[in-house]
Amino acid sequence: MQTEHATKPGVVRPMMNRDSQFFWDGTALGELRIQSCNVCEALRFPPGPACPDCGAFDRGYVVGLGTGTVFSYVVHRHPPVPGKDLPIVIALVDLDEGVRMVAEVVDVPDDEIEIGMRLRVDFNQVDEDLTLPIWRRA
Ligand code: ZN
Repeated sequence: MQTEHATKPGVVRPMMNRDSQFFWDGTALGELRIQSCNVCEALRFPPGPACPDCGAFDRGYVVGLGTGTVFSYVVHRHPPVPGKDLPIVIALVDLDEGVRMVAEVVDVPDDEIEIGMRLRVDFNQVDEDLTLPIWRRA
């Protein structure tokens, strides 16, 4: 889905490793996956090898609803970001499942974004190897 803030070629690519691969496999399918502990069922973000609650290494994921609330945000105006038209709105979103995630917000003018705004996730397929989650006003 193209927007005035659509990501262009040359975007900085996220680091992918065995702890986060499930997340990127999910975005490619249009799923916002949240890592979970298979022992105590706690959810966590960002993904990591061990559960911060119980220490277990046995991990899985749940598919999130893709909805959340702005906890905080910044409007990035400078310096330039490869593959982006500035300004961009970056928010900390409290997902309805209870974890907090960094989020690029699109289609919300930088003077309208506010704490408490409801957002929903969408997905921006950059290329066949990368689909980034983006967030819109719910
Ligand atoms: Zn656990």
